[in-house]
Amino acid sequence: VLRFILSLLSHAILLGLVYFVYPEVQKLSAEQLSAMRYLPLVLAGMLLPLCLRFNRSRMFFAALNLTLLYLMLTWGLLLMPAKQAGLVYMLLCLLMPLNLLVFSELRERGVLTRWGLTRFMLILVPLLLGLGLIRFEPAMASKLMNYRFIEAVPLHWTTFTQPAQLLMLLSLLVMNGRLFAQPGAERSALFGSLLAMLGVLHFYTDGPVTSLLTSVGLLMFFIALIQESWSMAYIDHLTGLPGRRALNERLLKLSGTYSIAMLDIDHFKKFNDRYGHDAGDEVLRMVAGRIKNTGAGGKVYRYGGEEFTIVFPSKAASEVMDNLEAIRQRVEQSSFYPARKERRKTTGKSSANPRGVTVTISIGIADHSERYPLPGDVIKAADKALYRAKKKGRNTVCK
Ligand code: GH3
Ligand code: MG
Ligand code: MG
Repeated sequence: VLRFILSLLSHAILLGLVYFVYPEVQKLSAEQLSAMRYLPLVLAGMLLPLCLRFNRSRMFFAALNLTLLYLMLTWGLLLMPAKQAGLVYMLLCLLMPLNLLVFSELRERGVLTRWGLTRFMLILVPLLLGLGLIRFEPAMASKLMNYRFIEAVPLHWTTFTQPAQLLMLLSLLVMNGRLFAQPGAERSALFGSLLAMLGVLHFYTDGPVTSLLTSVGLLMFFIALIQESWSMAYIDHLTGLPGRRALNERLLKLSGTYSIAMLDIDHFKKFNDRYGHDAGDEVLRMVAGRIKNTGAGGKVYRYGGEEFTIVFPSKAASEVMDNLEAIRQRVEQSSFYPARKERRKTTGKSSANPRGVTVTISIGIADHSERYPLPGDVIKAADKALYRAKKKGRNTVCK
C-alpha cells in the first residue's frame, strides 16, 4: 500500500510541475513556443530505442501510442477540414486510452517479434478503420461516437463523448487496480501516462500544455526504466533481497565497529535433488522472508546460491548472537510444503513429517578487529566460522 501511494505521489508531483511550469511557458516567445512543440518528439526519439534495448514492449507501445496521439493533435488535425478534425479528435479520445489499456494488459513478449508486430496492428487497424469511416461515412461516424448512454448527463461539461468517457473510466479503474495489486515501476508509469494522456486529450487546443503533458507522460517511462535498471543491478530477482553488488558497495562504507554473518542452508543440494529445483527456489524465497528482519540494525543480502550475508554496522559479534539464534530458530520452525508434482520420493523424511518439510541454516559470524582489518577479511573469518558450524553438525550459530 505504501508503494502504491508513493507511486501515485510521484505522478502527482510530475503533473503538478506542469501546473507550475505553465505560467512560465506562457511568457515564452512565439519561436520558443514553436520549438517546444518538438520536445516530446526528442524525448520519444530517445525513449523508444531505450525501450527496445530493455525489451519493454508494454512501455514501448504505450510511449508510441502517446507520441502518435501528440503528432495527431499537434499536426495531424491541422491538415483536415474542421468538421473532419472534430470527428478525428473524438476518435482519438475513444481509441488512445483504450490502446493504452490493452497494451498494459498484454503480456511482455518483445517488440520486434511476430507478437510485437501484431501489436502495431492493434494501434493501426482500429485507427485506420475509424479514419476510413470518418472519411467516407462522416454522418454515421458522428452518430456512433456521439452515442449517449445517459441523456440526463449534460453535454458540455467535458469535450469527451460518452463512449469515450466510459472507456476512459474503464482504463482508469483497471490500470489503477493493477497498480494497486502489483505496485512497480512499470505499472506506475503506465498509469501515470494514462493520466497525462487524459490531460493531453482534455487540453488539446492548447499547444504548450499538450507538449508539456506529453513530455511528462514520456518522462514517466524514463523514470520507470531507470528504476528498473537500478533494481536489476542491485536487487536479487529470486528473493527480492539486495544482491552481491549492493553488498560490495555496502562493504566499502563500513568502518569502526561492525560484524558480518554468513548464512548457508544445510544440505540444500539434497533438498533440490529430492523436491526439484523449483521447490528449491521456493525455499530460498521462504528463507529470505524469514531472515529479512534481523533486528540490531542488520541488513540481509543474498551472497549467491543458497548463501546469505548479514551486515551489522556498529555492532560487535557478541551483541548480535541472540538475533542470529532467533533467525536460526525461525527458519527451523517454518514448514514448507513442496507442490505435489515436485515430490519425487515421498519416503523417509517427508513421510515422517506429514505436516511439511523443514530446512535449517548454519551461521558463522565475525567482527571487525585488528586481526581482520578489511571487510573482506571479516567475511573470510565469518566463512570459517560457518564452516565450523557445519562441522559441528549444522543448524547452529558459530563465532
Ligand atoms: P551444506 O549443508 O554443506 O551447505 O550442503 P549443501 O548441499 O547445502 O551445499 P552445497 O554448496 O554443496 O550445495 C549448494 C546447492 O545449492 C547447490 C545447488 O543445487 C543449490 N543452489 C544454489 N543456488 C540455487 C538456486 O538459486 N536455486 C536452487 N533451487 N538451488 C540452488
Ligand atoms: Mg553453500
Ligand atoms: Mg548449503
